[in-house]
Amino acid sequence: MAKLLLGCIADDFTGATDLANNLVRAGMRVVQAIGVPATPLDANVDAVVVALKSRTIAPAEAIARSLDALRWLQAQGAQQIYFKYCSTFDSTPEGNIGPVTEALMEALGCEFTIATPAFPDNKRTVFKGYLFAGDVLLNESGMQNHPLTPMTDPNLVRVLQAQCQRKVGLIDHAVVARGAAAISERIEQLKSEGVSIAIVDAVSNDDLLRLGPAIAKMPLLTAGSGVAIGLPANFGLAPSSQASALPPAGGLRAVVSGSCSLATNRQVLDFIQRGGAALAIDPLRIAAGVDVVAETLAWAAPLVAKQPVLVYSTAEAGAIKSVQSRLGVEKAGAMVERTIAAIARGLVELGVRQLVVAGGETSGACVQALGIAQMQIGPQIDPGVPWCHARTDVAEGTPVHIALKSGNFGGDDFFTKAFTVLA
Ligand code: ADP
Repeated sequence: MAKLLLGCIADDFTGATDLANNLVRAGMRVVQAIGVPATPLDANVDAVVVALKSRTIAPAEAIARSLDALRWLQAQGAQQIYFKYCSTFDSTPEGNIGPVTEALMEALGCEFTIATPAFPDNKRTVFKGYLFAGDVLLNESGMQNHPLTPMTDPNLVRVLQAQCQRKVGLIDHAVVARGAAAISERIEQLKSEGVSIAIVDAVSNDDLLRLGPAIAKMPLLTAGSGVAIGLPANFGLAPSSQASALPPAGGLRAVVSGSCSLATNRQVLDFIQRGGAALAIDPLRIAAGVDVVAETLAWAAPLVAKQPVLVYSTAEAGAIKSVQSRLGVEKAGAMVERTIAAIARGLVELGVRQLVVAGGETSGACVQALGIAQMQIGPQIDPGVPWCHARTDVAEGTPVHIALKSGNFGGDDFFTKAFTVLA
């Protein structure tokens, strides 16, 4: 059996990558699994992050999927379990952070755990139990208007208590600042008061590094991705380039982009201005029944043999609105995602082995179209976006290097820089 140290359960796909990336930078070799794997782990890694899509589904369903993930991770020998949610504590009044935490505690026989969304690198800090996004409280950050998980109360002790049967308490900054021994002492005090889940204050990476040793023996941790930076040291691991080593890259290079964020618009423009070979996809031609996939692959075939190509539906807000008003928001989105995913698959069939995908939803569609079940996490291109290495189901298992960039991530030169990082 593989020697798995940390088993992670993430409640969404890009959040899983975010956590995996933090663990790699802190010194762990990490695989991200898309859903609960059907087979045992076949990689020699320190941590696995199982990416679920359980943030906004019914609590009972989220519990069932999380327990499935737990059982698989335990079967791989995981020594500690990490339940990862969003650093803005995205949840509804029913959950799913509270119910999933309690179900995992029950299954693990765990009498005490932490809840720590703080991620100072991303400007998410917790003080006196109150969550800040940048310089404002959570409920003034825009999250109060989130369509699925509106966050109207910044006090996390209150928010989590409303979702839990067990008693929720606080380890405040005055304690965290004094270090691991003080945190451990506070945990014993909270336990004697009947508390079994504690929100932990953290306003800096130093706070998270002080927290690390105090939670080394907890069977279950629940957190955003920030807490990850303090964990590898508990297993005797330190940051090293070995953690992000991937097999050597080869083959042809391509970028597909379905993201319409401001950052991605700049990245497409930058690639074109540098003289890159690029082709725009027109959603209205897809809707009119033109075989845009075949047309694009015919365009790409002679070019991609010589240089990286970019295929994009990326457009500015005005153009998107006009397409959406003619086709409907969901129909337009799903149609473009399907088309780009089919193009990504066609490009791999043409010999592309280094593929950059821009767009969160677009990434999900491409990973699915390529039949990717597990990805080994490699070196970071820009904050939050690592290269990964994965087996596809093209020609029964062609391996590719793939980078999945969600909307606003990456500098303007991302589509050029990505390939130099791999070289
Ligand atoms: P991001 O990470 O930037 O949010 P996503 O891939 O998650 O990117 O979402 C972008 C959505 O916009 C996808 O559903 C995609 O199919 C859709 N889309 C992309 N290009 C266009 C376009 N030109 N017109 C309409 N919708 C588009």
